[in-house]
Amino acid sequence: MKVTEHIEQAKGKTLFSFEIIPPQKGQNINDLYANIDPLMEFNPPFIDVTTSREERIYIAKGNGLLEQKITRMRPGTVGICAALKYKYNVDAIPHVLCGGFTKEETEYVLVDCHYLGLDNVMALRGDSMKHEQYFKPVDGGNEYAVDLVSQISDLNKGKYLHEIIETPHKANFCIGVAGYPEKHMESPSMDADLRRLKQKVDAGADYVVTQMFFDNQKYFEFVRKAKEIGINVPIIPGIKPIAISRHLQVLPQVFKLDLPDVLVREIEGCKNNKEIRQVGIAWAIQQSKELIQAGVPVVHFYSMGKSSNIYTIAKEVF
Ligand code: FAD
Repeated sequence: MKVTEHIEQAKGKTLFSFEIIPPQKGQNINDLYANIDPLMEFNPPFIDVTTSREERIYIAKGNGLLEQKITRMRPGTVGICAALKYKYNVDAIPHVLCGGFTKEETEYVLVDCHYLGLDNVMALRGDSMKHEQYFKPVDGGNEYAVDLVSQISDLNKGKYLHEIIETPHKANFCIGVAGYPEKHMESPSMDADLRRLKQKVDAGADYVVTQMFFDNQKYFEFVRKAKEIGINVPIIPGIKPIAISRHLQVLPQVFKLDLPDVLVREIEGCKNNKEIRQVGIAWAIQQSKELIQAGVPVVHFYSMGKSSNIYTIAKEVF
C-alpha cells in the first residue's frame, strides 16, 4: 500500500515509522531482524531502507602496495525490502539514489521493485562520495533528485528509457523525497531550497520526509513556508535521538543543522554515554509528543541500526 494511502486511512491519527540501514556485507540479516522485531509492536505501516553510496577501499597487495577499489559496503537494499515485506507484512521502502547509478541501472532497480510489489520508493540524489568535494553523477546518471522523480513518474506512465517500450501496464510507485527544515547544505538560501522541493513535488513526488531536526519550530516554519508556495503533499518529520557525545560534533558537521543550546548544555552535563542516551530519549519523546499534538501524519525515526532507544520512545509516545 502507498504511504499516502496509509496516511489517509489513519484519519488524522499519527503513525509510527522508522528507517534502517542495511548491514555491512558479510553480516547476518538475523541481526537486523533482532533490531526490528521489538519495533513491530507499534505497527509501523512502513519501514525505510537506505542505500549507501559506493566508497573507496584499499586492499593490501602484500608487497607494501595498496590496491584501490570502489565498492558498496552495505548493498542489498531492494532484497532487504522484499524480505521485510514478506516477513512482517509491512510496506518496505527502498531509497533509490542518483549517485553511483546510470539511468539504465536505476530502471533495472525500479523494475525489480515493481515485480516485488514494493509500492513506494524514496527518490534521493545521495551525497558526494567521501573523497569528493562535490556531488558528481556518473555518466548517464541522474543529476538531481528531481530528475530521478521524473524518471520514476515516467515509469508510472508506462514510459521506459529511450521510449522503446510504451506499455499500458504501468508502474504505480508512490514517490517520497527529502526536505530540509534547516535548508540543504549546498543551497544558497532556505527559499531557494524550498523552490527546489516544489520542483520535486511538481515532477511527481507524493510526500516529503524531512532531515532530522532537534527544534520543532524549525519544522513548523518549514511546513508553513512549504504550504505558502503550494507544496500540499504530506511532510513527514524525521527524528533522531542523540545517543553519544560524538553526535554533538558529527550531526552539525555532516547534516549542517543546529542543536538547541538547552539540549547541548544537558548533554555537556552528562558523565557518560549512558546518561547522554537518556537525555536523547527524553528530548525525542518531548519532540514527538509536540509533533503529534500538532497533528503530523507520521513521526519517522532514524534508527541507524540500533533500536532500543527508539523502542523506549515509541513505548512512551504511541
Ligand atoms: P536534491 O533534491 O537533488 O537537492 C540537492 C541540492 O541541489 C540542494 O541543495 C538543492 O537545493 C539543489 N538543487 C536541486 N535541484 C537543483 C537544480 N535543478 N539545479 C541546481 N540546484 C538544485 N543519502 C544516501 O546516500 N542514502 C540514503 O538512503 C539517504 N536517505 C535519506 C533520507 C532522507 C529522509 C533524507 C532527508 C536524506 C537522505 N539522504 C540519503 C541524504 C541525501 O541524499 C543528501 O542530503 C543529498 O545531499 C541531497 O539529496 P536530495 O535528494 O535532497 O537532493
